[in-house]
Amino acid sequence: MDFDLTEEQKIIQDTAARFARRELEPVAAELDRTKDRSILLRNLKKLAELGFMGLNVSPEYGGTGAGMVAFSLAMTQLGRACASTAATTSVTNMVAEVIQAAGTEEQCRRYLPPLCSGEYPAGSFALTEHGAGSDPAAMRTAAVWNKDHWVLDGNKLFITSGEFAGIFVVWAVTDRQAPKGRGISAFLVEPDFQGFIVGKDEEKMGQNGSSTNEIILDHCRVPQENLLGE
Ligand SMILES: Cc1cc2nc3c(=O)[nH]c(=O)nc-3n(C[C@H](O)[C@H](O)[C@H](O)COP(=O)(O)OP(=O)(O)OC[C@H]3O[C@@H](n4cnc5c(N)ncnc54)[C@H](O)[C@@H]3O)c2cc1C
Repeated sequence: MDFDLTEEQKIIQDTAARFARRELEPVAAELDRTKDRSILLRNLKKLAELGFMGLNVSPEYGGTGAGMVAFSLAMTQLGRACASTAATTSVTNMVAEVIQAAGTEEQCRRYLPPLCSGEYPAGSFALTEHGAGSDPAAMRTAAVWNKDHWVLDGNKLFITSGEFAGIFVVWAVTDRQAPKGRGISAFLVEPDFQGFIVGKDEEKMGQNGSSTNEIILDHCRVPQENLLGE
């Protein structure tokens, strides 16, 4: 078996290492101390310009199409210099991959280009709740169909980039009769949808530069076309 990195993987690793050294290291301590999100957002934009927000997303949707190994190499280099930037970049890549894997063609065309290009500062993944962390199947957030749209109610906890993400993958129970762990769907929620509220930024013991928010869904209206994969 050949474990050598490809030329493309080496270039991505080197680019990430250089970016970490030149752009992240000089400001990482200040970002952590001050929580000045303008520092984080500036570097997220530069990372998007380098193609680091959709490393495993097809170029057809604005991604880099470099694969999972390249993604891992890049995150390792960014994380050496600034854990907050690495975590935020990693979650954004994850959101893009979820949309690519489960989204319809229309959802991919609508949400992936702004995620990969940095038009959206970040993507957010809203799964965890009070009492539903290690055991997400215990989630209580529910989505109910109402004539021509979904209505989401519940609270999400510890949501990375809640403060500034352009798109949220929000998980909710759509079939209460289903056995535990089933009957759960994901929705593509834009932050200006009615009833979508960003709660407090948690006080953390580290990674202070990244935002970790509560998200409140208070009769949040979501159109049918934003049910992921439908
Ligand atoms: C900085 C940060 C960013 C985060 N970002 C996001 C995000 O973007 N989106 C999101 O959805 N979530 C996010 N999370 C939430 C994260 O996914 C959860 O914290 C994680 O799933 C654990 O859940 P919990 O905190 O409720 O801990 P718990 O589930 O209460 O677990 C606490 C401890 O108990 C252990 N434990 C739990 N169940 C068992 C068991 N059955 N047997 C043995 N041990 C057990 C766990 O391993 C852990 O050590 C973030 C969390 C942090 C800290």
